[in-house]
This record gives sequence, structure tokens and C-alpha cells, in this order.
Amino acid sequence: MSAPAPRRVWAVVPAAGRGERFAAPAVAAAADATAAPGAPKQYAPLLGATVVEWSIRRLLAETRIHGVVVVIADDDRIWPAVAARLADPRLQSAIGGANRQASVINGLRRLEAQAAPDDWVLVHDAARPCVTPAELHALFDALDAGASGAVLAAPVVDTVKRERDGRIAATVDRAGLWRALTPQVFGYAALRAALEAAAAAGVAVTDESQAMERAGIAAVLVPGSAFNLKLTRREDLGTAAKILKSEAGSMRIGQGFDAHAFGNGDHVVLGGVRIPYPRGVVAHSDGDVLIHALCDALLGALGQGDIGQHFPDTDPAHRGADSRLFLREVALRMRTAGFELVNADLTVLAQAPRIAPHRNAMAATLGADLGVPCERINIKATTTERLGFIGRGEGLAAQAAVLLDAR
Ligand code: MG
Repeated sequence: MSAPAPRRVWAVVPAAGRGERFAAPAVAAAADATAAPGAPKQYAPLLGATVVEWSIRRLLAETRIHGVVVVIADDDRIWPAVAARLADPRLQSAIGGANRQASVINGLRRLEAQAAPDDWVLVHDAARPCVTPAELHALFDALDAGASGAVLAAPVVDTVKRERDGRIAATVDRAGLWRALTPQVFGYAALRAALEAAAAAGVAVTDESQAMERAGIAAVLVPGSAFNLKLTRREDLGTAAKILKSEAGSMRIGQGFDAHAFGNGDHVVLGGVRIPYPRGVVAHSDGDVLIHALCDALLGALGQGDIGQHFPDTDPAHRGADSRLFLREVALRMRTAGFELVNADLTVLAQAPRIAPHRNAMAATLGADLGVPCERINIKATTTERLGFIGRGEGLAAQAAVLLDAR
């Protein structure tokens, strides 16, 4: 006899809020146009993506989560692009209702033909992008240990005051008080019945566990992280960015190499600079080995393959192409992914021509294309002491190392 299969887990993310108070017109214009100016908070830009993308990615990273229903507003124009970027077959969407409660109910209805009554449903706020794998695993552990529901929560550690007319009216005993976070997980049928019963009774609940309390189902409190903040004010974006950076590590390293043979011609192009020389470079494009190595290093740091994938030499459009166009496109990819160049260290390997007279022009050219000061780009040159194909003057090569940091 095999053990019963673990109960499946679905996720519902209510993301239909308008959040007008959060919107600030000037901030939202990300280079990748992820969010329109004045977009609600779930679509505010955060480290090269939007807030809700971070929240959903955290859920999709869990293989135990079988499907994710994102509940959006009926006039949402931004979601299709976000869904395309997330590109996960487990993603579905539903149209939200008048409030969070109604939206979660709609999300649960979307799962009607897919979820078994005792499957788990995990409800997570769209505006909690910093939820961690450890928190999700702690919830799953509580469920696997027999809980009828599990709610991520944080004990209240501050002294709590009740206010009346702007003055302190009383001190509330904080013993036994917790702040309810998300995710919150309950059985599919039980949660749906509880939310629909609350709605039918005209009771507005502010989280799922409140509806479950009405139904007499007591969830387990699972201690969550102090960093699992719900973005409510615009300045919370900066805090969330710091948390995500510190937890994942925001730096990316990349390296690249390229070589080309000399052929007929009267110049070579290196670092975007035309250098007179009795020979040319055999290449499909302009043969700028320095830019090709740099593009490969940047793409490598981004985890986006190599220059040959993005600009194949079988494409006639790239015949004789100015390699700076490749570099500018790679720079755009870098910004779209939410990164900027910290520094690049580049080495030209050639017996000739001499690089030193052109070093400053190359750094200025590359810096302009990458949108950074030229001081961030160091260009070195070496011969190979007449050894090998470079030493024999048959060709030249370049190496690049780059460091990127999240913006
Ligand atoms: Mg090349």
C-alpha cells in the first residue's frame, strides 16, 4: 500500500485593488513600461519587475503549489504583460469583486472544476512581495502535522494604544495578540463555504481567517518573518527593495571572450572606435571583439545566454553591423531586468595595433552606450609574447568581466 498523496495546494492572489492613494505619477515610468503612471500598488515597479510579480514568483517557486489564480480588476490593462513575463502554465486569472472578500470568492470559484474539496488553498496578498520560502514551508509543515488551517502571523511586540479624539484613551494588553499576515491556508471547500456564508450574512471580513473563525475553524498561528511586510505606503517600496536585495544577493557577475581573424582591410573596430591598421577583421558584423566579449559578459551576468543567440551571424540584417547596436540592445535588456553596470574590466589580446592611444575613446564610447560614467570601464591590453595565433598576428581577441547590481 502506498501512502496517500499529499493534498494539493492552490494559491489565490487578490490583486484587483485600485489603491489610488498609493499611486504617484512620476515614479512608475520604468524603462520596461511595466507599470503605467498612477498604477495601483500591486503594479508599482520593484527591482525591475512589479510588486505583484515578486509576490507571485515566490509562490510559483514552490513546486508543491499546483496552480495560482490571480484575481484582477475587470479593466486591468497591465496584467496580460505581467502574466506573459511570468510565463508559467500554472497561472490563471479571475475577475475581482467589490472588495477583497468578493475577489477571493471569485478566485475560489475559478478553481471549482479543478480543486478537490479537501485540497488546500493558500491566499496571499498581492502586496507582500517579501514572503520567504521558509515561511511557506512552515505553513506546509503545520498543515502536514494535522492543522485544519494555518495563518502566518507575527506576535505584537509594541505596546498597543487605543486612541480617542487623537489622544490615548487606553493601553491594550498585548499578551496573546498577533498580527495576521499572509499567506493563510485552508481547505478549499471549507474556505469557500465560510467566505460565502460571511458574505451572505453581510459580514465584511478583512482576512480569510476571520471568515473561518465565524465558521468555527481555528487555524494554527505560524510565526512569520518581520520582513514579510505589506506594502501600504509608497516609501514601503524602498524597504521591500532593500529586503529583497539583501536576501537574494543583488550582484551578478559575468565574463565573455571573443576572437576574430585578421583579413583584408585598412582598419579594425575595437570598443566602438575605428583604428587604422594595414589589415581588417574577418567577421559577419564589424568584428568588434571587445564589444562582442562585453555583450557576452553582460548576457552571462543576466543569465540570458550569449550574443550568438540574440544576434545570429546567419541573419543578413547583421552583415557589417555596427556592434554598438548590439551593445545598446544588451544594455536595454540589462535595465529591463532591473540591473545596472557596477564596472567592466576589459582586456584586448593583440600583438598589434597598439590600444593605449585609443583607450579613453573606447571607455567613453562604451560608457555612453551602457549609460554609465566611463570611469566604470577599464580597458587593458596585452600581447601574447608572440605566442599562438595572436602572437603570430593572425587575429586578435578580447576578454570581458562585468559586475551588475540591482537598481
Ligand atoms: Mg565576435
